[in-house]
Amino acid sequence: MKIFEKVADVREFVTNAKRQGKVIGFVPTMGALHEGHLTLMREAKKQCDVVIVSIFVNPTQFGPNEDYAAYPRTWQQDLELCQSVGVDAVLHPDKDEMYPEDWGTWVEVEGLTGVLCGRSRPTHFRGVTTVVTKLFNIVQPDKAFFGQKDAQQVVVLMKMVRDLNMPLEIVVVPIVRDEDGLAKSSRNGYLTAEQRKAALVLRRALNRADVLARQGESNVDFIQSAVRACIELEPLADIDYVEAYTFPGLQPVTELQQKVLIAVAAKFGTTRLIDNIIIEPAGR
Ligand code: AMP
Repeated sequence: MKIFEKVADVREFVTNAKRQGKVIGFVPTMGALHEGHLTLMREAKKQCDVVIVSIFVNPTQFGPNEDYAAYPRTWQQDLELCQSVGVDAVLHPDKDEMYPEDWGTWVEVEGLTGVLCGRSRPTHFRGVTTVVTKLFNIVQPDKAFFGQKDAQQVVVLMKMVRDLNMPLEIVVVPIVRDEDGLAKSSRNGYLTAEQRKAALVLRRALNRADVLARQGESNVDFIQSAVRACIELEPLADIDYVEAYTFPGLQPVTELQQKVLIAVAAKFGTTRLIDNIIIEPAGR
């Protein structure tokens, strides 16, 4: 497995692979890898000839009071995990390689970023769209793999790729969970045992939405309120949002007549977790 720290070096690797007609798969990550990331990599291996993973804790997607400095960095373990699933190359640039001192160009997607996480993290998505554009330009993948765990991110990136005519396909991989239902996240490691147990309420609440939808409930406000009420029963959960939007359009919705995203964010102590589910009208 190759390890690159410089943009020029990974470019050379990609150019050679493309010359041989290889399909390039790309999995961008911030490291602290877990089974969610590995599932993306395995899918990339299935669909592509060469898989490149980036491990870069991107400063521009963190707000001033967020956990950039404290974000877990587990480099050696990450390399072993990448190797274990057959990744061909890891791109691990440092901050200066990605953002030289006089850097100042942003990519911003309008319309989808003012809701959900965009409301409580107003500069987050422009950080994501900017770094992902840079990484796409560097790696020039044929396919890029993202997790449904970050549902809004997926929708925003798909719009960016379409709006800017980026020549690649985005592949979305379902949410990977621990056995008890907690969505895998690099931030789960921050949780105390008590908070981790409390955090299971997110999955329980989202399941409630699914059950209601399957029983024929079509009032989205009612479903959303039921999810919120379920989370409110957990004293350690500090809700940031419980919201419902059409998926993938992220438009307000009152009647369950198409796919609807129910997305939640809540803090357990200082750790902010997100989770979501897509519900559909009964009988579909
Ligand atoms: P991150 O390192 O948190 O930026 O995540 C890198 C990629 O892994 C993103 O596309 C995430 O959506 C995806 N990912 C993170 N956690 C999960 C999970 N539990 N299930 C599926 N994909 C995930």
